[in-house]
Amino acid sequence: MTTHTTRMLIVGSGPAGLSAAIYGARAGFQPIVVQGLQPGGQLTITTDVENYPGFKDVIQGPWLMEQMQAQAEHVGTRMLWDTIVSIDLNGPPFRAIGDSGDVYESETLVIATGAQAKWLGVPGEVELAGKGVSACATCDGFFYRGKKVAVIGGGNTAVEEALYLTNHSPEVTLIHRRDSLRAERILQDRLFAHPNVRVLWNQKVDRFLGDPLAGGLTGLALTDTVTGAASTFAADGAFVAIGHAPATELFNGKLAMDASGYLLVEPGTPKTAIPGVFACGDVMDPVYRQAVTAAGTGCMAALDAERFVAEREFAAQRMVQAAE
Ligand code: NDP
Repeated sequence: MTTHTTRMLIVGSGPAGLSAAIYGARAGFQPIVVQGLQPGGQLTITTDVENYPGFKDVIQGPWLMEQMQAQAEHVGTRMLWDTIVSIDLNGPPFRAIGDSGDVYESETLVIATGAQAKWLGVPGEVELAGKGVSACATCDGFFYRGKKVAVIGGGNTAVEEALYLTNHSPEVTLIHRRDSLRAERILQDRLFAHPNVRVLWNQKVDRFLGDPLAGGLTGLALTDTVTGAASTFAADGAFVAIGHAPATELFNGKLAMDASGYLLVEPGTPKTAIPGVFACGDVMDPVYRQAVTAAGTGCMAALDAERFVAEREFAAQRMVQAAE
């Protein structure tokens, strides 16, 4: 068992965590990034990335994350292969314990544990992921220009994704398992008014159809949840939009969360209710969830952590001077 001490402990190694690391390292904090179960985060399971600024040509998600990690290490970040299993937020110093048994002590804590898209878990979903099946219209919608696409779900995410896809596709079908949506009224109104959108009510997706090696997705096998009738829906792309699960179990009972488990922060900042503890990226963002927004809030977390440390040091100095 080793005890690692740092001025900035970053939990999570997606764009939020690594951006915080780059800023923290350049401020001389020698941050430690504990990488977690999916080093590099959600981008490591995507393929083409066309919306991260700075690259004229399409880049690959895993490559982008390798570059971010190399950049973070180059400026002085220590990347450690471990997964935090428990954490004590009565600090500073904050104290975390890894799966390895190692202990991490830090003056500031940056939580960048991210979120995972929820999947349906039906046959064909894994095999056709990236070959017609996706969980992110903003990331992949562009690849279905002029094609027929389906969105599965009935919440805000599904409706926003369906509306986004109308920018590219003349035929967007929302497939929902019930006969009403849970999305906000204003979004529903926009959806129903859109000429390129139709809704298939009371339909459960049983499987995704197509050959991963030849042409990808061709359609979806559906069952009517009221009549039990089976049908096939032809589509070139299918977007699963049934919600995301933020990785916040570690912080249950320790930090405030919304009803879906996202960490609550002071609006417009990455500050949690505990001074010195910051949250950035998808773990605190149920709305935008983009690599570039995660990177942006990661930067904000590092800047606020630097300010937090500077203010503590200034206060400590003042106390020493007052005592002299
Ligand atoms: P939600 O949990 O609100 O909705 C999930 C949807 O997926 C529901 O319609 C649900 O159906 C459906 N669903 C869940 N599991 C399955 C399944 N196995 N098979 C078929 N359908 C399924 O998730 P969202 O991601 O839409 O939203 C999460 C949170 O983020 C919400 O609080 C939302 O308001 C917020 N959000 C806000 C945005 C904004 O403000 N612009 C944008 C996006 C999200 P059913 O209705 O039958 O339960």
